[in-house]
Amino acid sequence: MTSTRKSSIWHPFTQHALHDRMTRIVRGEGAYLYTADDRRIIDAISSWWVVTHGHCHPHIVRAIQNQAEQLNQIIFAGHTHDPAEEVAAQLLTLAPRGLEYVFFSDSGSTSVEVALKMALGYWHNIGVPRTRIIVMQHSYHGDTVGTMSVGARGVFNKAYEPLLFDVESIPFPAAGCEQATLDALETACKTETAAAFIVEPLILGAGGMLMYPPSVLKEMNRICEAHDVLFIADEVMTGWGRTGTLFACEQAEVTPDIACYSKGLTGGSLPLAVTLCRAEIYDAHYSSDRSRMFFHSSSYTANPVACAAARANLELWQHGAGERATSLPAMQECLIAPFRADARFENVRRTGTITALDLKASDAGYLAGIGPRLQAFFARRNLLLRPLGNTIYVMPPYCVTEADLKEIYAAIGDAADELV
Ligand SMILES: *Cc1c(COP(=O)(O)O)cnc(C)c1O
Repeated sequence: MTSTRKSSIWHPFTQHALHDRMTRIVRGEGAYLYTADDRRIIDAISSWWVVTHGHCHPHIVRAIQNQAEQLNQIIFAGHTHDPAEEVAAQLLTLAPRGLEYVFFSDSGSTSVEVALKMALGYWHNIGVPRTRIIVMQHSYHGDTVGTMSVGARGVFNKAYEPLLFDVESIPFPAAGCEQATLDALETACKTETAAAFIVEPLILGAGGMLMYPPSVLKEMNRICEAHDVLFIADEVMTGWGRTGTLFACEQAEVTPDIACYSKGLTGGSLPLAVTLCRAEIYDAHYSSDRSRMFFHSSSYTANPVACAAARANLELWQHGAGERATSLPAMQECLIAPFRADARFENVRRTGTITALDLKASDAGYLAGIGPRLQAFFARRNLLLRPLGNTIYVMPPYCVTEADLKEIYAAIGDAADELV
């Protein structure tokens, strides 16, 4: 098949042969996006889970403007700057107690790559031959080769499978089957070579918005601790209030050995990520021997403008931004509740500010035919929703109004009427 389209841009997760007309957005404000033809779209998925306080939040925009005039890039080896120092210091006061060092990078995937390298570097430098990573079924940790290796295998990465490294996988703790997950983790941790367990706390995002309770997270952490297996929390999606607390690990009173934050770190304004770790991991790399340093960097590590945006985001959290994130769950619950009695849907669920439900369809899964039809239906209603196959989820910016949410849920009900 040959393309005759005008644009030469190749878009992410897009089958251009089926969907070639991109919606052209010219402006964003709060929970809304405005198109070139002046339509107003409600951003019900926070532009791929990144925008927390709303598009173009004035406090963050001003911080970006000011920093851009001052210092907009500096090599981060051998150099530092106030925005990075202040973000790191603030993060350590907000993150679970026990995390002591902050490594900057520029995307969620990179923050996970860094976490995996920190874990392997730790064992290597203390002279213990542990190299195997334990993962959870249905997980998603990014699209780079390392993060695909620790994520679910499937249609997304079939072509690249020869590049991926082997991992140990434990089942997702579906309701009623939690013990099987814990037993599998215990067995995997007993393997002599087990280095680290990586997990998305409380919600597996791209895997289908699969939710499990804090008690299971807590127990998984206990098992890892008991066997000296490093516990890596990938909070790239769950961080910044999404689960109802600033970080999901708080709800299980868990301090991971390594934590990854990105998406909402700059309020969703600029790319930035951090990997936080305990002192033991940093200390294992601290030496007069240069071969033991942490061998990782990217050109834009801790970019000052992105750090200034993150600093502004942290200021918003200190000044009450969290209140919106704590009132949104109740609004979401109220609107999702009626769907629990609706026979056209199943697995109606919510964790914190995120809701999800599965439309009963003859074909399920990420490539379910219903997915693109749903997306097109919502687009006609001026709603940005992007179902994962037959799983519809709502993850709005915290400034969304109750009226916006009502519009979103009405459309979900109508979609079931019209498309099934
Ligand atoms: C989105 C996501 C990533 C990858 O982040 P990018 O910034 O897209 O590279 C990693 N882990 C989780 C849990 C995510 O949701």
